[in-house]
Amino acid sequence: MRKLVLLPLIFVALSASSQQLSGDSVFIKRISNNILSSGEANDNLWYLCKKIGARLSGSPQMVKAENWGLAIFHKYGGPNSAWLQECMVPHWVRGGRDTATATCKINGKTQVLPLHVLALGNSLGTGTKGVKAEIITVKSFDDLESKKDQLKGRIVFYDIPFDDTLINPFEAYGKYAGYRGVGPSRAAKYGAVAVMVRSMSNSTDNYPHTGSLRYNDSFPKIPAVAIGLRDVKLLSDLSAKGASLTAFIKTGGKFFPDTTGHNVIGEIKGSEFPNEYITIGGHLDSWDPAEGAHDDGAGCIHTIEVFRVLNELGYKPRHTIRFVLFANEENGLKGGNKYAEEAKAKGEKHIFALESDEGGFSPRGFGLTVPDSSWARIETWKKLFEPYHVFEWRKGGGGADIGPLARNMNTPVAGFIPDSQRYFDHHHAANDVFEAVNIRELKLGAVNIAALIYLIDKYGL
Ligand SMILES: [Zn+2]
Repeated sequence: MRKLVLLPLIFVALSASSQQLSGDSVFIKRISNNILSSGEANDNLWYLCKKIGARLSGSPQMVKAENWGLAIFHKYGGPNSAWLQECMVPHWVRGGRDTATATCKINGKTQVLPLHVLALGNSLGTGTKGVKAEIITVKSFDDLESKKDQLKGRIVFYDIPFDDTLINPFEAYGKYAGYRGVGPSRAAKYGAVAVMVRSMSNSTDNYPHTGSLRYNDSFPKIPAVAIGLRDVKLLSDLSAKGASLTAFIKTGGKFFPDTTGHNVIGEIKGSEFPNEYITIGGHLDSWDPAEGAHDDGAGCIHTIEVFRVLNELGYKPRHTIRFVLFANEENGLKGGNKYAEEAKAKGEKHIFALESDEGGFSPRGFGLTVPDSSWARIETWKKLFEPYHVFEWRKGGGGADIGPLARNMNTPVAGFIPDSQRYFDHHHAANDVFEAVNIRELKLGAVNIAALIYLIDKYGL
């Protein structure tokens, strides 16, 4: 009897929720139609890449990019919709073109091979005379330790390839980026005079891929470069044939005093919970040899597109939504730290943050670090994303710039996940340019991010 009474109630509840979902699917389709038929993502990425270009912290292009971001938010959201949040950022410069050669002696013959290199970000230069020394190859940190008595006066070459059996290249990157980050100081500890690292990539071209190192102040700050993968292959083939190899490296990296940078923040005020914040962002800075199209122009365009479309459709969010183009992700994270620091100091309640910093490729899904209790709700949203080819809902995820919010304020966070197979062909290399981004793929990313932000704003987590 009791069951008979409950059945109609269950039916009513189910039909209400499916009605809600069909309303949501209509709104998401409007978002999608707007983004896919608009030219703004294309024009904005083009401007950022071609008119501003590389925008490392402290560079004149960083200032240009900040002003551009602010103007774009004002254009789409009105004069009171955006502001700059000041933070101090490091000011590292490459100081000219990095050059290197390898001198190879084999079977009584000597040949000099030019190497395609880029100094690692935050590395100090060799001075005008350069550094010349014998190369010693190591295959792991354990290998480095076992050879510690042979490192003095030599150039350590970390030749550790990506593990191609890992399906997600980000896992390979995560596993090996430490050789770039701390490898130079670990080699300097035993008297090495410079370091070369295999580029953190599995591409087939010869572009060197830069990225940050972090010197340990206890050891000499030796120069360090990344080498293109074809040159790496050449060196390892020669070394396997028994060649003796010396390298000459000339780099000019140096620091100027810290300078002023800014997070660019757009905002749409919440109608019901104006003091509860949802953040979406990407980072505005990019490495100096490229246009920073995938890293992280794409994340900035995603952020701007979500801001634009929600404004254009007249969406009135329940919570306040912030759109942040973060400063200085690549070599300091000062923007992300500042954003969380100020949020904490003001006692703001941040209910969710999402970052897009894995490129502008076709969307696959989201990685979410949210309470276990949120997953039942997320489950009900999944079918809304299927028409937009998003099927992956990974437990765990976030982004460097929103990490401080998660760590210091326990904010639930997520990372947007596009297809990752080609990301490391471009990451931190000179071929990370506008032409490497497919605009439809980029736009579909914005569609799915906007949909998730809309659902979290409407239903909470
Ligand atoms: Zn990035």
